[in-house]
Amino acid sequence: MLCYKRREDIERVLKIVKGEGKKVGFLPTMGALHDGHVSLLRQSKRAGEITVCSIFVNPTQFNQQEDFVKYPITTASDLLILSQNDCDIVFLPEVSEIYPNGTTTKTLNLGKITTILEGAHRLGHFDGVAQVVGILLDIISPHHLYMGQKDFQQVMVVQKLIEVKPYKTRLVICPTQREKDGLAMSSRNVRLTPENRIHALSLSKVLFYIKENYRNLSNEKLVELSYELLSKTPEIKIEYLNIVSKYSLEPIETGNQSEPAIALLAAWVGNVRLIDNILL
Ligand code: AMP
Repeated sequence: MLCYKRREDIERVLKIVKGEGKKVGFLPTMGALHDGHVSLLRQSKRAGEITVCSIFVNPTQFNQQEDFVKYPITTASDLLILSQNDCDIVFLPEVSEIYPNGTTTKTLNLGKITTILEGAHRLGHFDGVAQVVGILLDIISPHHLYMGQKDFQQVMVVQKLIEVKPYKTRLVICPTQREKDGLAMSSRNVRLTPENRIHALSLSKVLFYIKENYRNLSNEKLVELSYELLSKTPEIKIEYLNIVSKYSLEPIETGNQSEPAIALLAAWVGNVRLIDNILL
């Protein structure tokens, strides 16, 4: 496994790789790797691509300094996981390598998708995401970009970025990997106390409940019952829980249960903010 810190070095090697006619798959991560990340890596490897994984905790996408400072960093075990899973190339840049002119967040005006739900609760978050993914795509220019459904709105923002720029990269959405008990895998889970790890289970449970009852109840009723269920776990503070169109993430008219939909939520469990979703 090759590991690069400098932009010009990875660009040089990728030029050679592409010159040999090989396809490149890319998964951008913020490290603290788990089986969710590994599933993205495996999908790229299955496609027979030279697989590049970046590990970069992007300062411009954090709307709370505390969240940035407390973001788990586990580089040694990340590198072990990547090499054990046959990752070909790791990109591990310093902040100054990605942002030589400073870490001011740039707005790309990708439209409403960046300002609703996560965008409304984490102001500027998707500007930072689009900014860093744009820079990484400029460097790697992969044939395929692998991202997780776990961050569904992020996937939509990046798809918009790819269309607007436009990049030649094709985005591949990979299913959410869950722990055996249903909790969506997340780098932030390690920050949960043992008690809150148990409380956090209510989040996936409520999403499974919505999916089970989606055909029988109105969206309004389902959301109301979901809040009722979650109120039994007072340690959870819901930021949003919405059933919306899978295509626009905007509300679906009552009675239009045939429109492909998704239930998305964000919640605080203690001092850890978790997100999850389920396609309906
Ligand atoms: P992160 O390191 O949290 O920025 O995530 C890097 C990539 O891994 C993103 O495309 C995420 O959507 C994806 N990812 C994170 N958690 C999961 C999961 N539980 N299942 C599948 N993909 C995931």
